[in-house]
Amino acid sequence: MIKVEIDEGSGFCFGVVTAIHKAEEELAKGATLYCLGDIVHNSREVERLKSMGLITINHEEFKQLHNAKVLLRAHGEPPETYITAYKNNIEIIDATCPVVLRLQKRIKQEYQQEDNGEKQIVIYGQNGHAEVLGLVGQATGQAIVIEKLEEAKGLDFSKNIRLYSQTTKSLDEFWEIVDYIKAHISPNATFEYYDTICRQVANRMPNLRKFAASHDLIFFVSGKKSSNGKMLFSECLKVNPNSHLIDSIEEIDDSLLHDIDSIGVCGATSTPKWLMEQIYMEIKARLGQESL
Ligand code: SF4
Repeated sequence: MIKVEIDEGSGFCFGVVTAIHKAEEELAKGATLYCLGDIVHNSREVERLKSMGLITINHEEFKQLHNAKVLLRAHGEPPETYITAYKNNIEIIDATCPVVLRLQKRIKQEYQQEDNGEKQIVIYGQNGHAEVLGLVGQATGQAIVIEKLEEAKGLDFSKNIRLYSQTTKSLDEFWEIVDYIKAHISPNATFEYYDTICRQVANRMPNLRKFAASHDLIFFVSGKKSSNGKMLFSECLKVNPNSHLIDSIEEIDDSLLHDIDSIGVCGATSTPKWLMEQIYMEIKARLGQESL
């Protein structure tokens, strides 16, 4: 019989759990609640909360909104969002993750320190990602975003560099970037770096790699837009090339369920446990096995 197993370490991180609880709490009060952007990069969970009444809006719609209640998700927001809320009499339910909030404060302090304009504040992160927009906003848009080592090569090494990271980036690449800058920074300039990667993601990696390597076939459950989903899935692929990214039961490919002894189901910090369980039960059913 083919063994099917869920990775117990996968699923929502505490930042996402808190944001969803806050949304559920507010919705239970019966008032209209808007959320600025998808509450989590997982369309199934977004649909579940929509069915409970949560209305997702984008930044353009937010600017037009007045006298309403809006939830800010775990990724955080730039200062302009709070200014708009104040002007439009919008009540903010702030679910910014404390880890992101701390990072925002550090970047703001860094930006406010005197450096005669000679300092480059660099954020290793994904351009356009909500968290990164919130971080860049702390430096009034002056921070430089680099997505990978290749882009670090374009920095001005004759000027001081302060390096930070988006919370969900890869630790390995962060340290490659640090090494590269150290090797190239001018003797007249200073380089300081801060590992601001969230351990809710980084600490999962060794376990996830072990889990992926211990099965013949892996279904990695994640929304396609999730940044930590892409990163954690690539870790699975490294140790198990028979890993597949899916975000619903419709994406389970029956042709993969043959000539194997074990199947693992795992996911990102933005993947709800209920969705992994649904996929687990569907696989069991397709294999003709009893479910949970
Ligand atoms: S991954 Fe970390 S920083 Fe991001 S929301 Fe989760 S707990 Fe917060």
